[in-house]
Amino acid sequence: MQAEIGIIGGTGLYDPKLLKDIEEVTVDTPYGAPSDAITIGELAGKRVAFLPRHGKTHSIRPTDVNSRANIYALKQLGVKRVFAPSTVGSLREEYKPGDIVFVDQFIDRTTRREQSFYAEQRVCHISVAEPMCPELRQVLIGVAKDFGVSSHSIGTYVCIEGPRFSTKAESRMYRGWGADVVGMTLVPECVLAREAELCYATIATVTDYDVWKDHAVCVDDIVRTMRANIENVKRIIVEAIARLPRERGCCECGSALKSAFV
Ligand SMILES: [Zn+2]
Repeated sequence: MQAEIGIIGGTGLYDPKLLKDIEEVTVDTPYGAPSDAITIGELAGKRVAFLPRHGKTHSIRPTDVNSRANIYALKQLGVKRVFAPSTVGSLREEYKPGDIVFVDQFIDRTTRREQSFYAEQRVCHISVAEPMCPELRQVLIGVAKDFGVSSHSIGTYVCIEGPRFSTKAESRMYRGWGADVVGMTLVPECVLAREAELCYATIATVTDYDVWKDHAVCVDDIVRTMRANIENVKRIIVEAIARLPRERGCCECGSALKSAFV
């Protein structure tokens, strides 16, 4: 069972109906089990592997997502590029609920997550100056533009530990740092993808204005906005997969480890 493209689905994107000729595989890794079984099928003529980030029943909280196992399992299946849909709160008036953000930078506020495959033997100083794959980003931004979807081609994502939401003081502080959106899942997933020399890009959907705007964050509101936007995210991913050239060309993700070891 092999696949060339991976989708690590965020909350609400558990629709393996996107894929044709589905088969499910259970993968084991030296880092433990991935979040769930991986569904492999065909999409737009390419082999695609779908992995629900929080498990099929959304039972894994952000802190406990085993990103090392998830990324390692996809790599084992032959995956070279990963699309990672996720949901975020907005820290800016102009990043409205329902908008899609093609995040290009992150600020890491996680505290309890293993960020490297090389925790025991060698020290891997991976570069994440530009943490997302420029080629995947370019394709995604082009598709969203062509579809007329309200989107932002850049954005800085603050990754918090969760599962609680931010206080107003924290939310205001993140705004002061220049961050645009806040979420709980990007780090270390994108860092590990880089260590595994996979191309990776997130498709972040804004579900709410975080608490800085003087209203409480409510799970009901988030779920409502998320449902309304899930179709847009699916449409963008399907078209992006169709447009991707078969071979990786204009990025350096595939040789990221070259200068990572002392
Ligand atoms: Zn790349």
